[in-house]
Formats: sequence, structure tokens, C-alpha cells
Amino acid sequence: MIFMVLYTPGSTSSYDLTPIDDDNLRYHFLGGGMEVGNVGCVLEDKTGTRIQIDYGFVPTNPPNFPEEAPPISDVIITHSHIDHVGLAPWLVASHDVNIHCTKMTADLLEMIWRDTYKVSSIEGQPLPWDKRDLEDALNNIVIHSFDSWSEIGEWKWRFIPAGHIPGAAMIEIHTPTRKILWTGDFDTKSSPCVNGAEPIHVDILFMETTYAGKEQPNRDEEVQRFITRVVDVVEHGGTCLVPAFANGRGQDILAYLWDSKLDLEVHFDGMGKRILNHFIDNPDYVRDVEKLKEIKRWARLVSSKSDRKKAIDGDVIVTTSGMLNGGPSHWYLNRLRHDQRNAILLTGYQAENSGGRSLLEESRLDIFGKTVDINLQVDQYSFSNHADHSQLVKFVKDVNPSDVILFHGNPSEGQELLKKELQNFGTTVHQPENKRSYLL
Ligand SMILES: [Zn+2]
Repeated sequence: MIFMVLYTPGSTSSYDLTPIDDDNLRYHFLGGGMEVGNVGCVLEDKTGTRIQIDYGFVPTNPPNFPEEAPPISDVIITHSHIDHVGLAPWLVASHDVNIHCTKMTADLLEMIWRDTYKVSSIEGQPLPWDKRDLEDALNNIVIHSFDSWSEIGEWKWRFIPAGHIPGAAMIEIHTPTRKILWTGDFDTKSSPCVNGAEPIHVDILFMETTYAGKEQPNRDEEVQRFITRVVDVVEHGGTCLVPAFANGRGQDILAYLWDSKLDLEVHFDGMGKRILNHFIDNPDYVRDVEKLKEIKRWARLVSSKSDRKKAIDGDVIVTTSGMLNGGPSHWYLNRLRHDQRNAILLTGYQAENSGGRSLLEESRLDIFGKTVDINLQVDQYSFSNHADHSQLVKFVKDVNPSDVILFHGNPSEGQELLKKELQNFGTTVHQPENKRSYLL
């Protein structure tokens, strides 16, 4: 019943509902202000046009939810990661909103929501929407192509490619007085699946800052380091377990292995398989659909228990969960852990309290309700699809806004460093707190 307390429609939002009578823009982060993930933000001006961007949660145990949304008619979804979309069905249940997204995102939303519902039922976690809300949400989706302008109230807006993952979009909004760009999660580097984001000029930039203060290694060198390690493990008779997020990362990893042209037996398991099919079904949203088709033919897609047993003797297993929080990765690890020739190659950030973090720090992991010691070598690689510090700075320089609002980043020295660098070229920098309405 906890969620009934958290989400009683119309009663717990701290959003300032008073009409605006000047040229200011009101913005209010329900979540995702000074934190990574959990994103939801409401924008409004004096025309009374009020929209929300994203509504997600962090699927920790227990889950971390943003604040309740005020009444709105439209939510624009940047991309299909759960920390941006996980709560959108609640908006439909409570406010019957239209959900605007790209076609690629729409295809993935259905899968992500169904999976979220399934996992929350199995784990007994509270979720403030049910199966019927999910069906209603699917009926309220409005699909938009990149670069085509639409209207909500008195605002015009369009999606622009954001890099990051296929279907991910930045949002350009023109109010009668302001030009706004919302980056969503974005990356100016190209990845195997998508081309990088390009800047446009606006007055107000809302920018995610996951990597403020942090630089990523050179991508080619990092791929080479990964491939070298794979070869070393395989040459010594071992199997590499490569935990990877299902939506974007897993497919990138397959592409790096395929690009190496090595004679490797690579198995692909988990939800990433279905996502790969969706990428292939949406050729306008991926960088090279023919390459993805070849990768799909080349990789061994695991679809049965006997496939899993074969994978154990293969060279590389790419699977979920990317943070070793469960999923097929636990099944594999439980078998691979007895032979020290095998190795674990982590391909992304490992959150606090995640299986991957416990593996890195304590060489142990909870598998199927039992804590077990893992004596395999663990390596970690950085294949992030977010803009890093230098790219964030360059992006702001290119967009050249009068104001930049930093969000989707933890308060840190890195944030302060970014703020200082941006102020140096005359931009006013804002670092909004959650649950507060600001005027700009
Ligand atoms: Zn994302």
C-alpha cells in the first residue's frame, strides 16, 4: 500500500499552480534535478501551456520514485530507458495524458513497461500503475519523426537525434518568447548503433550532466583493451561473461566483437535479443541496419536451456543484467565461477548495492538467494553513451545559450568544475533542486 501514499493524484505535488503573468518560463523538476535518473520535469509559461518531459524511476530495491506530477495534458518522452519512462503509465491513469515519442521509442516502451510490470510483481515491489494503465498508456502514444514540428498549446516543438541509443531524442521547443533545447540523455560521439548528436542554437539549454568532471577513455583504445582481454581469456581455454545493459550496450558490445573479425563463438542472451530485433525493424533510427542484420546472423542467440548449456562452452557470453543484479548473467556466473580460466568483463557503471559493485569490492555476489565467493578475474570497461566533460563543454559552446540548466547529474566537484567552465564563456548556469518551481 506504500505507493497509495506516495501517489494520491492531485494531492502531493509541490508544483506551483499559480498562473504566470510575465515572460518567464517556469520549470520544476519532479526528479532528476541533482540526481542521475528518476527524471521528470514540468515546463509552463504565461500562455498556460504546460508540458512534462519524461517520467521515470530508478529500479533499486525499494525503487526510487520522483515526486508526483501536477495535472498535465502531454508528456514528451526522450528515450526508452526506465529512469525516463517507468512511470509514464501513471500519468495516463491519473491525467489521461498524450505520450509523445519517436517510433523506435514507442516500440521499446511496450516491452520495457511489460518487463517492469513483470519484475515488480515477481519481486513484490510497489508500482503505482497496473496492467490496465499500461494498456491505456499504449493507446495514448503519439508518434513523431525526427525534425517534424508539432504543436502543444501555443508551443511548437520537434525531436532532434540525441545519439545515446536508437530512438533517443533531444527536444527543441519554441514558446512565443523563448527557444529551448532539452538534451535528454545525449552523446555527441557516434556509437556502433547511432550517430552522435549535433548542436543547434537556442536561448535556454537543459543539459544532462551524468559525466560532469569525468572524461571517458578514447573509444578505439578502450575497444582494443576489451578485445585483447577477450583473446587472452579465450586462448587460455576460458569463457568471458560480459554483462551488458539490454538497450544499447549489449548491441554495441556485439558490434565491437564482430568488428574485430576474430573467429569467436559469441552467444547473446537476455532482453537485448528482442531489442536487437526492434533496432532492425526501425532502420531509420539506427546507423547501419545491414550491419545489425549481419551481427544478428553471426551471433548465437540463446533461446532455450540447451542453448544456454552450449554457451557455457563458448568464447563470449553477452547478457543481462548489466549490473549483475539478476537475469541470465547469474545463471551463467553460477556455472562459470568454478573454473578460474573464465573471466568477467563489466561494460558499464556499477551502481552502489549492485551485484557488479559487490563483485568488484568484495569478490562475492548474491546468486539465487545465496552469497557466494567469486574467484574469477573481473575487469571493467567504459563504453558509456553519454557526452563526457569535454563534450558537455563543447556542446554548450556550440549551442551558445544565455542560460544552461544542469540536470541528471550528482552534486560533485565535477559539477562545480563544469559550472565554472561554462560561466567563463558568459553563460548563466543553474543547478535546480528537485520539487521546487523556478522562474527564468
Ligand atoms: Zn538513457
